[in-house]
Amino acid sequence: MTQVRNPATGEVVGVVAESSPGEVDAAIGRAAVAFESWRTVTPGDRARLLRRFAAVVDAHLAELADLEVRNAGHTVGNARWEAGNVRDVLDYYAGAPERLTGRQIPVAGGVDVTFHEPLGVVGVIVPWNFPMPIAAWGFAPALAAGNTVVLKPAELTPLTALRLAELGREAGLPEGVFTVLPGRGDVVGARFVSHPAVRKICFTGSTDVGTRIMAGCADQVKRVTLELGGKSANLVFADADLERAAATAPYAVFDNAGQDCCARSRILVQRPVYDRFLELLEPAVRAVRVEDPARETAEMGPLISARQRDRVAGYVDGARVAFTGSCPAGPGYWYAPTVLLADSPADRHWREEVFGPVVSVLPFDDEAEALRLANDTEYGLSGSIWTRDVGRALRVARGVEAGTLSVNSHSSVRYWTPFGGMKRSGLGRELGPDALHAFTDVKNVFLATDG
Ligand code: NAD
Repeated sequence: MTQVRNPATGEVVGVVAESSPGEVDAAIGRAAVAFESWRTVTPGDRARLLRRFAAVVDAHLAELADLEVRNAGHTVGNARWEAGNVRDVLDYYAGAPERLTGRQIPVAGGVDVTFHEPLGVVGVIVPWNFPMPIAAWGFAPALAAGNTVVLKPAELTPLTALRLAELGREAGLPEGVFTVLPGRGDVVGARFVSHPAVRKICFTGSTDVGTRIMAGCADQVKRVTLELGGKSANLVFADADLERAAATAPYAVFDNAGQDCCARSRILVQRPVYDRFLELLEPAVRAVRVEDPARETAEMGPLISARQRDRVAGYVDGARVAFTGSCPAGPGYWYAPTVLLADSPADRHWREEVFGPVVSVLPFDDEAEALRLANDTEYGLSGSIWTRDVGRALRVARGVEAGTLSVNSHSSVRYWTPFGGMKRSGLGRELGPDALHAFTDVKNVFLATDG
């Protein structure tokens, strides 16, 4: 049994049974059986079921958001967006079954066509930082492409994923098509990786676990998508709209208390505007409302656990603190927004993913140095570029080794567009039309027409 605690209060808000190895095997077996019929459901009917699933989620948006506030400590505003994102992603991929077309390729001696075949059972493994959207980015395109899904939520945050599985059943998804299995990573997640009937792993989480999963998939040549850690740069050039860059920078890292793989946790500022930028950043950081995430006015909630809070504090100890915001005293796992001045790019808080409300700032002289510093990391997930020079914006965007960049914005996730990382931030892309191909294999069929 796992006790689920409200991160804002420490109170137990749910008790969830951990799936045993036997239960996991049985669920994978049911998903394998269900695949045989799910793959033959007509594209129109599969689309209708996904649209109905989206409609049922839509009818439960407020309930899902409230549950996420208690499950993960998200602000109610964010949690509403996240529940809405599940609906939108389901709606978006509901358009896919009827559009998943292959090609007819001109060849000698016959007709040649390609099909996008579903893989079979897909194992989706989800972290605790965005329990609902990350689940949907896996299960919605996987189901649309004709696969069945077993999904493991994080140990700390299983409640909303379990509720989504109930809503899927309410919408009419057949038995075994979408099953949520709470439990331990090294039991449930590891079994997804080793079980031969699971044909693909769609993993989001730490780079450490992701690399182990990739190694575990190798002997079966199991397909794998990895969305891993990040240490994204926010590049502020001297010609930028400095007021806007400084006013938005706190939300680019303190949103979800910094527990965001896309957090712009390294701010690089061109030297002539470095002091002015910090002057503008300070009141913006102090203004971030850190409070009970159930309040409508909350902009940042607590960290997920006491362990995470201690980990974050470990990065700040001994570092040069420029200024901090404030946070409630407790109970709950609170940590104030914190701005650190990096002494050099060798600083631990500059190099490692803190996964908390901590941002490090460093000056740079010119574009070349900005790129060198931005790319001096094992990660490559996202980043922002602030400049009024269109040519520079595109030049720098092409130069930054990251999968998801924005110019004069901190936006990372739009469900219409591909999302994912370079280098040790991941492999493959989620969302957008491309994600469908990560849940299918291309089959080529040649039909001889010559006598
Ligand atoms: P984690 O790697 O500890 O756990 C992620 C999931 O993997 C959990 O469900 C866990 O139970 C499971 N797991 C653990 N050990 C396993 C094993 N041996 N086999 C199979 N599954 C196992 O990550 P976390 O602490 O939950 O999440 C934080 C991390 O996730 C951060 O590094 C963050 O950057 C990353 N993240 C990345 C993205 C992205 O899209 N790139 C999005 C969100 C979070």
